[in-house]
Amino acid sequence: MAIRLHDSLSREVRELKPSHADGVIRFYNCGPTVYAPAHIGNFRTFVVNDVIRRLLELEFGADKVKHVRNLTDVDDKTIKRARDEGRPLADVTRQWTEKFHADCAALHCLTPHVEPTATGHIREQVDMIEVLMQKGNAYRAPDGSVYFKVSSFDGYGRLSRVKERELQMGSALKAVDADEKEDGSDFALWKAHKPDDGANAWDSPWGRGRPGWHIECSAMSKKHLGATIDLHTGGVDLLFPHHENEIAQSECCNGTAFAQHWYHSEHLLVDGKKMSKSLGNLYTLDDLKAKGFSPMALRYALLMGHPRKQLNFTLDSLHAAEKALGTLRQFRASLAPAGGDAALFAPVHAALADDLNTPGSLGALFTIVNRGPQGVELAAFDRVLFALGLKLDAPVAPKADIPADIADLAAKRWAAKQAKDFAAADTLRNELTAAGWSMLDRKDGYSLEPVRK
Ligand code: AMP
Ligand code: ZN
Repeated sequence: MAIRLHDSLSREVRELKPSHADGVIRFYNCGPTVYAPAHIGNFRTFVVNDVIRRLLELEFGADKVKHVRNLTDVDDKTIKRARDEGRPLADVTRQWTEKFHADCAALHCLTPHVEPTATGHIREQVDMIEVLMQKGNAYRAPDGSVYFKVSSFDGYGRLSRVKERELQMGSALKAVDADEKEDGSDFALWKAHKPDDGANAWDSPWGRGRPGWHIECSAMSKKHLGATIDLHTGGVDLLFPHHENEIAQSECCNGTAFAQHWYHSEHLLVDGKKMSKSLGNLYTLDDLKAKGFSPMALRYALLMGHPRKQLNFTLDSLHAAEKALGTLRQFRASLAPAGGDAALFAPVHAALADDLNTPGSLGALFTIVNRGPQGVELAAFDRVLFALGLKLDAPVAPKADIPADIADLAAKRWAAKQAKDFAAADTLRNELTAAGWSMLDRKDGYSLEPVRK
């Protein structure tokens, strides 16, 4: 079944196809900035991307998909957090990378094949900036920063139609970061060292400094996927300026098309509003676990909305999700181990393949579930669960009085055990024991109890 996805560049729903002779789909997904726990809006984007990854595997075969998702581990936010906490940057980003991984595992997201970091690819970023300098697409400002010259690239604005909006955002950027730029819409490729950056600076032909944010994705996608990739994704806020700038950098440097397909998912709102700490409506996965919800309920609730429409999250939607998961669990238990009609679930897959219509696919699934288990093939049902990434024996949510770091260790250990990495699972169990907790495994999950002395 062909996968059709909206392409933000052509503004059409187009079939997704590998463009290289080896048939491998090259998929780059902009990853998190690791300075704090990711919130459930971030996870909407990552869960949607996980469904894309799963669909690609079902369509082209697991060995024909290469999925890269970066970690932004140096930028203003990460540096500020390290400075505020008086810790080395690498300590802070390691902590939040581990947390991100534990949350992704709890949400049953497949691990990308490569997870490159910005600090691990300074050389590649510098190399790319050097080419842009040689080709006349970039210039060094007196302070040692390097900027991309937007007027040097005719294609600038094609993705976001920013020119049609008279580069309004460019003038907004000018107000923020005007210092040494020749033009307000130019953007930084290399940022000269400032006292606030502390020890977080690297040598370059233009002096000590650090890369700008956009160049990391151009450099890392090139290194791990090649100059032309098949699919590039992220949340809708990345369309401008991040992805517009990535296209400019990559196409000017490489002299070839950058991404064949651009997919952007819409944002999650909470109680009808943009999530923000000041409004008190920003949730992390731990916040929801502390309220007694399972990570799988969040995953299900995130799939209840069409990824290209804003989704309004409410706690009620989590109750509905837990109920739906319970129904699916019971339904699966009632299926005969063999026999049944494998084609029955075609409408569920068809909805997903039709521009990732996740609510449509859940609706089609429940039409079958409501008819009853007669004639349903277990293996075909499990293929649907794989596509949506639903794990019906998800671990039970830890109770609120379990400290978050203990809950994380347990979630990681559970994920390691599911992945049959028993050495890692044993190490994590030892860590839990040392911290005074015992983890009791059951077939469908686990519970945690303080060790009685
Ligand atoms: P960040 O860690 O801020 O770089 O964001 C990681 C990903 O989450 C990006 O793809 C963003 O577009 C996405 N994102 C940020 N806020 C939201 C939101 N409220 N809803 C959905 N996705 C979001
Ligand atoms: Zn990116």
